[in-house]
Amino acid sequence: MSALDRFLHYVSFDTQSAENSETSPSTLKQKVLGEELMKEMEQLGLKNVRMDESGNVFGEIPANTEGIPAVGLVAHMDTSNAVSGKDIKPRILHYEGGPIELSPGIVMDRSAVPELDRVIGEDLIVTDGTTLLGADDKAGIAEILEAAEQILAENRAHGKIGIAICTDEEVGRGTEGFDLKQFGCEYAYTVDGGALGELEYENFNAASAEVTVHGRSVHPGTAKGVMRNAGTIFTKLHSLLPEDKTPERTEGYEGFIHLIHVAGSVQELKAFYILRDHDLGKLEELKQILLDAAAQINSLFDGDEVVSVAIRDNYRNMRECIEPHMHLIRRAEAAFRKNGVEPVTQPIRGGTDGAALSYMGLPCPNLSTGGYQFHGVFEFIPVRALQVMPEMLRDLVYSFTEE
Ligand SMILES: [Zn+2]
Repeated sequence: MSALDRFLHYVSFDTQSAENSETSPSTLKQKVLGEELMKEMEQLGLKNVRMDESGNVFGEIPANTEGIPAVGLVAHMDTSNAVSGKDIKPRILHYEGGPIELSPGIVMDRSAVPELDRVIGEDLIVTDGTTLLGADDKAGIAEILEAAEQILAENRAHGKIGIAICTDEEVGRGTEGFDLKQFGCEYAYTVDGGALGELEYENFNAASAEVTVHGRSVHPGTAKGVMRNAGTIFTKLHSLLPEDKTPERTEGYEGFIHLIHVAGSVQELKAFYILRDHDLGKLEELKQILLDAAAQINSLFDGDEVVSVAIRDNYRNMRECIEPHMHLIRRAEAAFRKNGVEPVTQPIRGGTDGAALSYMGLPCPNLSTGGYQFHGVFEFIPVRALQVMPEMLRDLVYSFTEE
């Protein structure tokens, strides 16, 4: 089977994960693909194929030569809950430039998808514009298993190769229950990035804040001097935050405070923010900006805590975990170049399972899948990426036979 065939098969499974779920994995339908992947791994001849309680699927190619470090390859099987991942209708088309009509009335063009300029002349796998595609991260699974098949067929010298396909990455639970000891790898790579050649070992430090505005609701006819409208108070608070520190005004290493959800009434309002920066000190500054704004609002209400802020740290930048192992980056760069792809190392404006794994003690940079526009209906992947990445992964694994 080719990585393309594998990919088209996997996206026929709806594996959307869910926020605030009590189950593990967060949606049980992920296990349906998990079972399928286990079957496939066994057919390929992988050893120790298993599923843990969280639905994570593992398998391995045992070392055929001693003294080579064990390397892991990691992807995730769930899809984002931003857009439906059910009944995906993938279509392969040859792209010659210009807008693409995905379905009658649904057009993808470079105003929404500037990356189209980078893939002129390529065969693309697109959606019908009503669902996401699921290249994030089923392309990663297809590329890893295709690489595994080639490695097994070639039987060149290699160390142990661990494979992990996780559930619930998109809802931040991808490494839940991940047994690093059983995985038994010294290093690993997630295959969960974007455009072919992307290589990442820096991600955001992340925190979230729940802001509660305690209002006082009274009949509007007799409200003078008594009512405290939580909505009005919230708009004042939000207006105190820096306008240029938002996702839509930042890029590269610039951090942000992002308002993601507001709900409430005159009596009480809750607002949720996420705070992100690659620099831990700067993330603390962002937290302080929010706390200062709340304090400024509270000072208007003689001593009453009208606004309360609860901040939680989420994940951290993996850079400090990778820096002692920069050979991981050099090997990946060399493997890309060997396959005619110029690597681009860039900071992730988000998080990855690799960051969590790195802090658990398994240094784990992130590699491209080759896909674009993840989490949306314009998600697509060039067919070429599904051909190049398995070769790249194979060369990467073989590179560990050398110092
Ligand atoms: Zn992903």
